[in-house]
Amino acid sequence: MYPRLVVDLKKLKENLDAVAAITKEQGHCSLMIVTKGLCADKEMAKMVANHPAVDFMADSRVANIKTYAQEARKNGKMTTLLRIPMHAEVEDVVKYVDLSFNSELSTIGLLNEAAGRAGVVHRILLMIDLGDLREGIFYKNEELILHTVEEILAMDHIQLYGIGVNLTCYGAIIPKKDNLSNLVAIGRKIEDKFGIKLSMISGGNSSSIYLIGKGELPEGINNLRLGESFLLGNDTAYGAKLPGTVSDTLTLEAQIVELKEKPSLPIGEVGVDAFGQKPYYEDRGIIKRAIIAIGKQDTDIDSMEPLDEKIDILGGSSDHIILDVTKSEVDYQVGDVVRFVLGYGGMLKTATSPYVEKVYK
Ligand SMILES: *Cc1c(COP(=O)(O)O)cnc(C)c1O
Repeated sequence: MYPRLVVDLKKLKENLDAVAAITKEQGHCSLMIVTKGLCADKEMAKMVANHPAVDFMADSRVANIKTYAQEARKNGKMTTLLRIPMHAEVEDVVKYVDLSFNSELSTIGLLNEAAGRAGVVHRILLMIDLGDLREGIFYKNEELILHTVEEILAMDHIQLYGIGVNLTCYGAIIPKKDNLSNLVAIGRKIEDKFGIKLSMISGGNSSSIYLIGKGELPEGINNLRLGESFLLGNDTAYGAKLPGTVSDTLTLEAQIVELKEKPSLPIGEVGVDAFGQKPYYEDRGIIKRAIIAIGKQDTDIDSMEPLDEKIDILGGSSDHIILDVTKSEVDYQVGDVVRFVLGYGGMLKTATSPYVEKVYK
């Protein structure tokens, strides 16, 4: 059935080998593989769980972690929850998650109670915000950081596993030796003041991996969390391709349901489109327009590239995408399949849509 997402497990494995080799080259860096970009796809998760270089398997949603927790643990990987937990999900967190990222004492308190009821000790990573301004205690507020640590250490069923930072997500801030060194310094301060050893100082996501190649990842950083660099081979700091990776691990396939020669400019008074936007149309004269049976409900039309480079994506609505196939050397017919490579947004939406079938090769 179409539309479908073709997942190339061999290429994903090669990407994993490549990012693992770069990360482990550092010597003391553990590898956390992030599965949310492909909605914790079952076959991908199985491959990751069986890879010897992977130490942690992480996702932002407990529902995703639940699907592979058993497989991950059986293979000696810790499951990790990246998004700060909701109060409403603490029971599930202590059950399916071995390490959760946190920044709120009220939530950590509830995790402590839930862990107590479940008879387990739950590990947490305290998030520090170095300026990207998404989650974490602001790094300049040392008093709040130390107070939070003190409260955590007093809890019976919580283990402070370490600290971490997330960058290049909201504020688009690039990890560098200087901002990551601030994180390491905070870690050392916590260790000295409380006489403890932090097992993990996690230095960010796919935007941090480039620092290893430059020899600029601070010594104290001993973990990286990699999603996009593994799934699509991207160094997300500067948009470069990581050595040994490929970007065509996934192919989206959709079927043409209409093919007509029509003008490129709509006729009549222009209002707003299906999403309330005032559109812009380029006058290309009479063109050959193909409609494929997939839409904004299933994919991100700004995050997909036709493999046939002579095709242009003109636009779309919930269930339709319109292509200009005029310049293509292929004589497309209704019923033909058009293929696309995906960016992060396209991958995320197609992997999540129940209307997009997944097949493997
Ligand atoms: C999504 C996420 C990651 C992985 O990001 P990539 O850019 O895909 O490597 C790492 N850490 C946190 C906290 C995240 O939310």
